[in-house]
Amino acid sequence: MFTLPDLPYPTNALEPFIDTQTMEIHHGKHHAAYAKNLNDALPDKTEVDLEQILRTTDNPKVRNNGGGHYNHSLFWQIMCPATKSGQPEGKLIELLNSTFSDLPTFKEKFGSIALGRFGSGWAWLTVKGGQLTLEDTPNQDLPSGTPILGLDVWEHAYYLKYQNRRADYIAAWWNVVNWPEVSRRLASN
Ligand code: MN
Repeated sequence: MFTLPDLPYPTNALEPFIDTQTMEIHHGKHHAAYAKNLNDALPDKTEVDLEQILRTTDNPKVRNNGGGHYNHSLFWQIMCPATKSGQPEGKLIELLNSTFSDLPTFKEKFGSIALGRFGSGWAWLTVKGGQLTLEDTPNQDLPSGTPILGLDVWEHAYYLKYQNRRADYIAAWWNVVNWPEVSRRLASN
């Protein structure tokens, strides 16, 4: 059985970039529902490798709710209060520079796919075959590579504060990216 993980910070910790009410509803209602609906839909409730389940299931309820649980569990971890956001360092910045020229160009390209994802979905920085790759996915689908950074562009992630201005949400979100955690995920991949 899968359970809703606690947020690693209070719901107001990402202010003013991500507002408290959005965090309360996003984590406490949306993510909680994905976890509950995943458990309800799982035929084998003893299987614990969610990624394995998601890569092999043909049950749309498992795929959608399991993806929601998997993606949001990552999403909370790769954010943090702006004061702790830091910068990409070490191997991460080396790979970002060698792959995308420099950090501003990476952010521009990542932001562009996040903005261009029509409807609900995610933008990702993934590791695939030892390379950094940008991907975007619809709904709660997983990227094909191993995600080390992901941005939720469902309207539920930003509409209360940013309404239709997804670009403003994306620009603000960079302030609360937990770069040490992204580095850790790169190193452990
Ligand atoms: Mn979401």
